[in-house]
Amino acid sequence: MSTENNLDLLFNNSVKILTDLIAFKTISGEDNSSLIDYCDDILKKLGATSFRTFDDEEKRVNLFATLKSKVSPKKKPIILSGHTDVVPVSRGWATDPFKATIKDDKLFGRGSCDMKGFIACVLAFAPIYSKSNLDRDIHFSFTFDEETACQGAPILIEELKKREIKDGICIIGEPTNMKIIDAHKGCYEYTTYFKGLAGHSSAPHKGVSATEYASRYVGKLIELRKKLKERTPKDSIFDPPHSTLSIGGIFGGIAHNVIADKCHVNWETRPVVKEDAIFLNAELDKYANEVLLPDMKKVFPNSSIEKEIIGEIIGFDRDEKSDACELISSLTGDNTRQVVSFGTEAGLFQEIGISTVVCGPGSIEQAHKIDEYIVLEELKKCLKLLEGIKNNSIIN
Ligand SMILES: [Zn+2]
Repeated sequence: MSTENNLDLLFNNSVKILTDLIAFKTISGEDNSSLIDYCDDILKKLGATSFRTFDDEEKRVNLFATLKSKVSPKKKPIILSGHTDVVPVSRGWATDPFKATIKDDKLFGRGSCDMKGFIACVLAFAPIYSKSNLDRDIHFSFTFDEETACQGAPILIEELKKREIKDGICIIGEPTNMKIIDAHKGCYEYTTYFKGLAGHSSAPHKGVSATEYASRYVGKLIELRKKLKERTPKDSIFDPPHSTLSIGGIFGGIAHNVIADKCHVNWETRPVVKEDAIFLNAELDKYANEVLLPDMKKVFPNSSIEKEIIGEIIGFDRDEKSDACELISSLTGDNTRQVVSFGTEAGLFQEIGISTVVCGPGSIEQAHKIDEYIVLEELKKCLKLLEGIKNNSIIN
């Protein structure tokens, strides 16, 4: 069979698999085990070994499967990585979001570009890897709950450390139009809860106003934001170049004439370096515990300030000599490197010494939106990259 026909066949298969994947309603936080079973089945039939890791309730699953090298491997393993969850759907879709629909040159459906398209391509290509004389291991990493601050991947990463899978190349197929992304900021989200004492507004000294203490806390955050700007690293590659901080919401109080006993603040920071997040949290916690809280407790000893971590997605740092980026460049001829403003699991793999790149089919422009789609041509581009990886991973 000629390469052209072969590619057509692979393409048709990837569309079929993508259609199946979209039909699994794997919204973040929900059970994704049927989709994982589906992927595991395909890979097992090809001779892959696999293991699973779970959340506490064992209803959400990460899958890590391996097609072994045919010789004692000389090259670093390659990890093809994607998240299996999708963001929720809102009203207004022209088609059923969980039924893949092809119109013209596009395939519509929730997760089509973010990021079941990539998973479909690697599963469609897996039979070729399994038939090839591989001289390195090819791993498939499918995680849960990436969209809710990367809750699944850290559980998998712990297991990879235990199994000594720390030296390799990881390709995260988030939608980048197959461009090479080699860095992004971190994304740390928090909610801070204030509990004071309710009372009549005519006697403020007899109550502890949660809203007032929350306001002072927000004031401190804004003050620290200036400090983050002063800490801008030289040669920062990001826009804006410094770590940002944003107050997403302040919620508290019930009436004009009642001292609010409860208030909470939603806030986030996007650090350019990990140290900024450590600095910010240390300064903030110190202020809350040494200034605000003692003040609140003078009037009401049961007052409290509690900071809840919603998610801490570590940043993905540019590595001047990146095996992962060089591999993609050598296969596609594209030597550009870009940064993005969205977070991914890349920093988690990078942190344990795995050379990582974000590169996958589709555009982030269509992600998380009504009528999400992937341009079909993008799947073909992805399959070509996977073919390049095969040619780079066989015994000559
Ligand atoms: Zn994604």
